[in-house]
Amino acid sequence: MRNLKKILAGLILCSCLLASLPVYAAEPDQSDHEYVNAGPGVVQAEGEDTTSGMCLGTFTITGYCNCESCSGGHNLTYSGTVPKANHTISADLNLFPIGTKLLIDGVVYTVEDMGSSVNGNKIDIYYDTHEEALAAGTYSAQVFRWD
Ligand SMILES: [Zn+2]
Repeated sequence: MRNLKKILAGLILCSCLLASLPVYAAEPDQSDHEYVNAGPGVVQAEGEDTTSGMCLGTFTITGYCNCESCSGGHNLTYSGTVPKANHTISADLNLFPIGTKLLIDGVVYTVEDMGSSVNGNKIDIYYDTHEEALAAGTYSAQVFRWD
């Protein structure tokens, strides 16, 4: 059930993907107003303003904790912080440097950690307990930049 809810949440959040394509057809009134007001210059402004909230695509989300099997006994993250639930995530640092904020399932996480198996479109979310990390399982979710 929990996974289903998360998938549903992801689909709702994913409206950014859908909206980027059929927004004209879906909501002609609203988009007309915005585009008329913004004019041609909006394209350049978007470069900066839409960085936050930008849909980065579908990622494979896994969970981990600071136990021996998840983190090999490391108590601190790669960046030296104390990992916190609903805050700390592990990501591919080539894509998301330490400190990058990402929105996943309505929670803004901060990249503070890395993992040998966390590469590309993978995010490892920190949980306080191994049970929670296991319960979260592996699922797909839309990830958004949140700087
Ligand atoms: Zn663990």
